[in-house]
Amino acid sequence: MKRYFSISAKLKLTIWSCLLMILMASIVTALMFSFSGNIIANNIKTTLTQVLDDNADELEFEDGRLEIEDIDFFKKSVYTLIYSQDKERIAGNLPDEFNSEPQLKDKVIADIIIDGTTYYTYDRLVFPEDYPKPFWLRGVIAVDEVTSATNSILQTALFSLPIFILLASLGCYFIAKHTFSPIDKIILTAEQIENSENLSLRINLQNSDPEIQKLSNTFDKMFERLENAFEAEKQFSQNVSHELRTPIAVILAQCEYSLDRSANDKDRQEALNIIQKQAKKTSNLISELLTLIRLERGLESLEFMQIDLSELITIVCEEQTIIAPQTIDFNYEITPNIMLRANQSMLIRLITNLLNNAFRYNKENGKVNVSLREDNQIIILEVKDNGIGLTPDQKTKIWQRFYQVDPARSADNSQNMGLGLAMVKQIAKVHKAKISVISELGQGSCFRVEFFK
Ligand code: ADP
Repeated sequence: MKRYFSISAKLKLTIWSCLLMILMASIVTALMFSFSGNIIANNIKTTLTQVLDDNADELEFEDGRLEIEDIDFFKKSVYTLIYSQDKERIAGNLPDEFNSEPQLKDKVIADIIIDGTTYYTYDRLVFPEDYPKPFWLRGVIAVDEVTSATNSILQTALFSLPIFILLASLGCYFIAKHTFSPIDKIILTAEQIENSENLSLRINLQNSDPEIQKLSNTFDKMFERLENAFEAEKQFSQNVSHELRTPIAVILAQCEYSLDRSANDKDRQEALNIIQKQAKKTSNLISELLTLIRLERGLESLEFMQIDLSELITIVCEEQTIIAPQTIDFNYEITPNIMLRANQSMLIRLITNLLNNAFRYNKENGKVNVSLREDNQIIILEVKDNGIGLTPDQKTKIWQRFYQVDPARSADNSQNMGLGLAMVKQIAKVHKAKISVISELGQGSCFRVEFFK
């Protein structure tokens, strides 16, 4: 189902944290209210009883008269009143609104609501020394008066909370925006690449969070690989068309030449020879290219079977001895009975290509050595020559399709098109083998293939 309405991750994060903050603030406020209410009520009650007890201690009789000078009738918001046994007020004033008839009960705290104001009362029946009758002492405290200050603090907190939540949400949004801005940059670059098809663009993120930096670097590497692959494909198409155009141009020119009335039989014969050579070269190129592409794309269904590699390499070397240049000293050292699961014709191609190169890029009276041995479950095939060698830069390029250090050297040979080592590399790859070259300019090269059993 298509989503018509989608919220950005930044907004989601902000809404989520905002809701969380509101929830937390509500819980904290509710707890604050309930706890503070209880604590205040207990404090008020303690103050009320303390003040009244203190005043009760101060109540004295002298000469049959009640001494009330030492009594504090309004202390710590507590009104103290003295009643006779018949509940008649003897001393002390009530809060203005307080006009109810007292219901006196000894050592009991009661609450009374008058005109919306809550009062706590606490009564004590006192039996003073030297006096025959008891007295009632009553303490009265207006709860709301005491709690109003605390309430106003809580109310201030309650009103300021939304402002804090708003500020925190804004902060959260800006932090999210800042955190997500590198991702916006990644998206923007990807979109630019898509729209402009310019694969050379990079995100180039600097000083970002490690995870996002890693993501951006991975993308940049991927863009680079894509660009390289794209460039390689482009180069490949150019090379193919170039390689095909040259022999076809030669063929056309030779056809025209031989069709010319002034051309004699000898000229025509010569032209036909050239046409044949170029046609062979073209046909060779096409078949090599097809095999290479099919191998690279995994389209070639190769048959793998257990083969005696020692025997196979020996046969190839024997054949090559016959066709090897007379000036080359060619030797091979093959450990017998080395078995490998492989595709026979591909392996013949691999060793033949390496050997042809070793002969071709050699020096006068040069040496070529082939060796096959097994070491710790690794089968090592080496083709070594002491020929012209390669520079470090050439060593990295020789595996590319159509790369030739000196194209002029093989211009006359229809077999040499700069595809041999690309094919060798691909054959090694389908056999999960590792291929490498050790080479020094003017000293020679050693191509090494390692097959893993
Ligand atoms: P080519 O058809 O030109 O031989 P290859 O792919 O087989 O193409 O080789 C690519 C290039 O690598 C060659 O043109 C050559 O310059 C270089 N090369 C290959 N083998 C050797 C070698 N044994 N010694 C020196 N250079 C070599």
